[in-house]
Amino acid sequence: MSVDAYGPSSQTLTFLDTEDADLIGADTQGSECDFTDFTIPSQTQTSQHDHAGPKVTGVQINNSFEKKLASTSNALGELQFEEEDEEGYFNAKELPDYACKYCGIHEPNCVVMCNLCKKWFCNGRGNTSGSHIINHLVRAKHKEVTLHKDGPLGETVLECYSCGVRNVFVLGFIPAKADSVVVLLCRQPCAAQNSLKDMNWDQDQWKPLISDRCFLTWLVKIPSEQEQLRARQISAQQINKLEELWKENIDATFQDLEKPGVDEEPQQVLLRYEDGYQYQNIFGPLVKLEADYDKRLKESQTQENIEVRWDTGLNKKTIAYFTLAKTDGDMKLMHGDELKLRYVGEMHKSWSGVGHVIKVPDNYGEDIGIELKNGSGAPVDCNSNFVVDFIWKSTSFDRMQLALRKFAVDDSSVSAYIYHRLLGHEVEEVLFRCHLPKHFSAPNLPDLNRSQVYAVKHALQRPLSLIQGPPGTGKSEECF
Ligand SMILES: [Zn+2]
Ligand SMILES: [Zn+2]
Ligand SMILES: [Zn+2]
Repeated sequence: MSVDAYGPSSQTLTFLDTEDADLIGADTQGSECDFTDFTIPSQTQTSQHDHAGPKVTGVQINNSFEKKLASTSNALGELQFEEEDEEGYFNAKELPDYACKYCGIHEPNCVVMCNLCKKWFCNGRGNTSGSHIINHLVRAKHKEVTLHKDGPLGETVLECYSCGVRNVFVLGFIPAKADSVVVLLCRQPCAAQNSLKDMNWDQDQWKPLISDRCFLTWLVKIPSEQEQLRARQISAQQINKLEELWKENIDATFQDLEKPGVDEEPQQVLLRYEDGYQYQNIFGPLVKLEADYDKRLKESQTQENIEVRWDTGLNKKTIAYFTLAKTDGDMKLMHGDELKLRYVGEMHKSWSGVGHVIKVPDNYGEDIGIELKNGSGAPVDCNSNFVVDFIWKSTSFDRMQLALRKFAVDDSSVSAYIYHRLLGHEVEEVLFRCHLPKHFSAPNLPDLNRSQVYAVKHALQRPLSLIQGPPGTGKSEECF
């Protein structure tokens, strides 16, 4: 699997791969499959069963062949109509809602809607290694989809028959032995449950719904080669950019990619720099991008329906404790971060107050504590109907920009040694001749281990040392 294909800003991509995608004889996909081919499996979705258990979705294969044939003929009619008007086929104004937001393909058989952003994508790869829908789900970290009402299975939200989980990356299916039904089940725990045996399902037959980075073709067809050639040829880079644009403007379109400015890539960092100016020229924009990203991330994290527990600190300040739902984003709350708490209920007049974080989720509990700047007037008798907003602070980014500017205009802002080291220039190694103590331990702290002692010795003898390591390996202790 090539992660590179997804560009430099790539997160870890997880695809489920299986060796084979042959499916219960229902594979009619294939580039040569066009609309005059009526060997399409005759599958329709069963309605939601009224089981005693949780909400369920099954997909049934039955013999409603005629019905299928009828709806396929309709599709054929539409298709021919489109073909007469080939010029306008990918003209954004003409495209139906369900056209692939990447390439414009809009065969109902071939498209899937992302439940989160309500955008449609096709199951074709175009010029990329995964299908457009899978590309989108991975890039945007979305996970749930709905099939098109005129597709092979009708309008179906893909979810586990047993527990209702909708993450398509953990969903798979087991063809029932009775042969007429396919059951969608999540890999864990549902596909592994023993009770399945009773229902005459063979759990060893479980296969993921996504194979080779495409949805299985009995769920969503792959657009024909001809169709794909006719579609907008979007590259992996353009897909990445479009996904980035959507983070700021959900309605951005392919056309927006051509607007000036969008194409500007920041300059790459270098191993060596001429001088502080060049260093600032390259790092300044990167710090700005990071700050913009961080701001967007923080400001989009408002959480509602928060329960609050009130307390008063030893310093007599008002403290609010609450827990936040886990976000799967990259955000980490830190001591000192600022949060705004708002009361939106009816038991008290509307109120909002800002506080800084004094407790983060840790081994002692998942709750977060904030100390209010001004606790007077806080609705301490109310415990529910609160909203938490995140407040973005530019301080650390401002400091970085300030330091970069100083570094650029004043080469004596740091020692000559550090100046040249930062710019990647060859610098003769400097070793201080200092008196090293016999024992490396600080009062009231546990003794340092061997690698900590090594790091301290190393740092004491040099003007600049970089200490890195995973969390909890004692980097901070060394600083004492
Ligand atoms: Zn989405
Ligand atoms: Zn597409
Ligand atoms: Zn399940």
